[in-house]
Formats: sequence, structure tokens, C-alpha cells
Amino acid sequence: MIEYFSKVFRGAWATVAGMMVTLKYMVKPSVTVHYPTEKLVPFERFRGALLFDPGTCISCNLCVKACPSTCITLENATIPDPKNPAIKKKVAKVDWYTIDFGKCNFCRLCEESCPTKPKSVWHSLDYEVVFFSRDEMVRCWKAGTKFVGQYWDRKEKAFKDPEGQIQIQDVQARR
Ligand code: SF4
Ligand code: SF4
Repeated sequence: MIEYFSKVFRGAWATVAGMMVTLKYMVKPSVTVHYPTEKLVPFERFRGALLFDPGTCISCNLCVKACPSTCITLENATIPDPKNPAIKKKVAKVDWYTIDFGKCNFCRLCEESCPTKPKSVWHSLDYEVVFFSRDEMVRCWKAGTKFVGQYWDRKEKAFKDPEGQIQIQDVQARR
């Protein structure tokens, strides 16, 4: 008889102990978010998708030299030489700039080497970069292009805005 009630008590106590653990976590603040309707904002030094500003770039080539994956290419803007208009002179502006995200290892060396203030190439906090085709992985920028860049659609022979990139925050981190 004592053995029987002892077993009942131990079973009831195990249930109460389990419920106490459940109740303890029920009142604690939640550490998970309802992704994708809720999104965590990464820490300030997070290396998300690269962005570029053709307006501030001085076409110094330092990011191209610093990149260990050889995924950046650019072309200097030129103006006609006033003495001889047939000759084109390079100016400290970029004509076009590209980054191949298929090769990028997100090392931040391009951003660190960039001498402009604020940086002309920088990691955003965006981690939801989705590419629907190989073409979309090569981002291109020209004067007036948005920070996220565009890609060249080889089938339609036209520049297009990337579809897969979702802005985690409206204001992009830029150092
Ligand atoms: S993050 Fe690194 S690999 Fe990617 S473009 Fe910049 S330097 Fe190159
Ligand atoms: S992004 Fe920065 S480092 Fe690269 S060419 Fe432009 S100014 Fe130079």
C-alpha cells in the first residue's frame, strides 16, 4: 500500500516539476521572432550584401586591388581633353562598377580599403539576398543607379532591378 502511494506521489511530483519548468519559460521574454513577418536587425559590424554609391566613388581602384576574389571591376569616367577633344582624359569618377556576388566571400577588404568618407562600397545589414539567375549575381552600377545596383539580363538584353533583395532596414549602415 505504501509502495503504491509512493509511486502515485512521485508521478504527481514529476508532473508538477515539468509544469513548473513550462510556467517559468511562459513568463520569460521570447527570444525567437516570427520570421518573415518579424526580422532581426543584425549587429552594426554585420557583413551583409554589398552596396555601392557611384556618386562618391573616385575610381581609385583600391577596392579592386584589395579584393582577394577578383570580383570587382570598374571603368574610369572620361572627358574630352580641352587641348585635343579627340583624346579622352580619365577623371576621378566611375563610369561603371560591378561586383560578382557569385565570387564574393564577404571579407570586407573592399570596404576597408575604400578611402572616401562615407565609404563608396560597404556592407549593408541585408541578409536576405536571393538570386533567381546567374545574371542577377553580377550587380552593376552607373551614375544614378540605386545603392543595390542592377543586373544585366542576357536574354532580354536590358538592365533590371534585382528582385530578391529585401531591405532589412530603410536606412543602410554606412561608415
Ligand atoms: S567583400 Fe571581399 S571578396 Fe567581396 S567584393 Fe569585397 S573584397 Fe571582394
Ligand atoms: S569604391 Fe572606394 S576604393 Fe573602390 S574605386 Fe571607388 S573610391 Fe576607390
